[in-house]
Amino acid sequence: MGKIISIFNQKGGVGKTTTNINLSSYIASLGKKVLTVDIDPQGNTTSGLGVDKNELEYSMYDVIMGISPEKAILNTVVENMDIIPASVELAGAEIELTAKLNRENKVKEALSKIKDKYDYIFIDCPPSLGLLTINALTASDSVLIPIQCEFYALEGVGQLMNTIQLVKKSLNNSLEIQGVVMSMFDGRTNLSIEVVEEVKKYFKGKVYSTIIPRNIRLAESPSHGLPIMLYDKNCRGAECYKELAEEFIDLDEDGDY
Ligand code: ADP
Ligand code: MG
Repeated sequence: MGKIISIFNQKGGVGKTTTNINLSSYIASLGKKVLTVDIDPQGNTTSGLGVDKNELEYSMYDVIMGISPEKAILNTVVENMDIIPASVELAGAEIELTAKLNRENKVKEALSKIKDKYDYIFIDCPPSLGLLTINALTASDSVLIPIQCEFYALEGVGQLMNTIQLVKKSLNNSLEIQGVVMSMFDGRTNLSIEVVEEVKKYFKGKVYSTIIPRNIRLAESPSHGLPIMLYDKNCRGAECYKELAEEFIDLDEDGDY
């Protein structure tokens, strides 16, 4: 039975999409069957995996509106990895959902139909706490939280945890924290080191020991429509995401996280 994991942090620019694309693709390369679901109207995971957002027959919007999810699944450039892409129409879904019955459960209902076909399903969340994010969290077994190594790293984390608690209480009581990924680490600064220590104190035992450095190749690869493993597998960013994928699977299979 596939495990559904939301990549969630309501702050923008913290590395959600970069982590989604690269962690998913390395997990697929380790032999797991992976689906990535783009639920962000910006569609950065979609374009980052070389899928043209403007040429989609079906997208996550249609899935939320009730079409069979199989129809929207596309293969990616990565073996073992599929995608349900996003288009700008998703921005409208946020509003259209408001009037629907059972509006928090649309993604859960859709993914339950295809969950069995995958080992892992990763949902790339938008940078907001709206209905799309609530749908993603309601559908998920766990949450993976990327946090950027910056001065305000923990700002907004209280709100993030409140949202998780709220969803747990009212919509999905089995939602867990899968782990916390520190991203855009700059080893030249004491600040980055201090931020990691502070986040480790806050999330006791949930922070992956693999830390993702700031790496220019990671920022370049989406414009080529490729995950880092196919763009430049020898760069530092690639090595770290590969290591993170191995750590992720080890801990997940041990049941520690
Ligand atoms: P989010 O999805 O949380 O908004 P992104 O993954 O899109 O964040 O990252 C924000 C920006 O930072 C993007 O331009 C991305 O290419 C860049 N970026 C993300 N991670 C790294 C990294 N480790 N090193 C360098 N640039 C990065
Ligand atoms: Mg994003």
